[in-house]
Amino acid sequence: MVIDNATLLIGIAFSSASLLLALLIGWLNARTETYLVLGAVGMALIVLAVMLMGFRNGAYGFGQHLVPYTLILIGFSFVYAGARRFRDIKASIRPPIVVGVLAVVAIGIPFLMGLTGVGTILLNSLAAAILVLCAIEHWRSKDHPHIALNANAILYCITALSFLCCALVLLSEARWVTTEPPKNWAEDFNSIMSLVGLTGIGALTLTLHYARAAHRHHTEANTDSLTGVLNRRALFDRFGGSKQSSATAVLMFDLDHFKQVNDRFGHAQGDRVLQRFADVLRQELRRGDVASRIGGEEFCVVLNDIDQEMAKTIAERIRKAFADLALAIDDQGLIATVSIGLAIPTIEEDFSALLNRADAALYQAKNGGRNQVRLAPLRLVA
Ligand code: GH3
Ligand code: MG
Ligand code: MG
Repeated sequence: MVIDNATLLIGIAFSSASLLLALLIGWLNARTETYLVLGAVGMALIVLAVMLMGFRNGAYGFGQHLVPYTLILIGFSFVYAGARRFRDIKASIRPPIVVGVLAVVAIGIPFLMGLTGVGTILLNSLAAAILVLCAIEHWRSKDHPHIALNANAILYCITALSFLCCALVLLSEARWVTTEPPKNWAEDFNSIMSLVGLTGIGALTLTLHYARAAHRHHTEANTDSLTGVLNRRALFDRFGGSKQSSATAVLMFDLDHFKQVNDRFGHAQGDRVLQRFADVLRQELRRGDVASRIGGEEFCVVLNDIDQEMAKTIAERIRKAFADLALAIDDQGLIATVSIGLAIPTIEEDFSALLNRADAALYQAKNGGRNQVRLAPLRLVA
């Protein structure tokens, strides 16, 4: 090989150590993201193992390889635990613990019997298996952005393949006892993949971490924290200034006598009513419809690919579902109903103009006695 193995091992140790630091700093800034600290601990153990292998300087005794091999397996088990927590923040880390303990026992037995070659074959096979488990965890993570997730899973698989090749070469040579470090093309492939794989996986994990954080901040900035629907800013970001076609409908909602709900039952109960109304919207709207809370007890919904009859039906369904629900909330007769204004453009119309017409229709609904849907008069000229 162009680079000698010791130099490559030192390279792996240094690159992994710097990534370890980056993962730890990432974790210090976001303590709930435990996959970062699990990955960092895993990397630390692997760095230690690689350094020990570098220092063994050709010597090949019991301690010189069982210790670093054990560290590698425990290190990979930590990385596996991190991959599970990356997929699901509450994922159990019992499987990685079981896998790690079993793997260490599995390589320990042949080493104690003096079958160092068998132990090395098992080490490589088990390392490959744990890396495949990490890849599966990444494939199971349905998250953003997919390219980085898939790239990470592929890196895990290629690194696993390099470990598997080492095992297969020893197996094909029937090397049950080894007296010196194996030297073959598979070991070279494995050293290169350990460098590329570890640094690549670490860097991509950090990329995914920051992409996830950015996505979460974006979602939080656009979501109403009480009800979970979009907030006013998000609604106007999406539709403000745009022209709406006749296949769109805007519904404006204002809960009726909401002040009385607060006065009689308290602000906390008022908040619960707002949440239940948002639940009704989620339940009655179709995929692609956009619900938002634009003020205290005022909501706005944009229906896409819709005609007037269908829009009226949906509005009526929401009104009725909420009225039925409100009676069920409280047996003392908590009456929380909603008035709805509906506007549909007959010609291309500005979103804000459409909103104003829906608002005017809502005003009519209030004057007409509340708990009803009113359609804004059709606009015939631009
Ligand atoms: P109307 O039928 O005419 O709409 O009567 P209303 O009492 O609903 O009208 P108004 O707009 O005067 O009252 C809205 C009330 O909504 C006033 C305010 O205390 C309450 N409110 C606004 N935001 C919140 C909130 O986040 N939580 C709770 N619980 N109440 C809120
Ligand atoms: Mg109001
Ligand atoms: Mg109101």
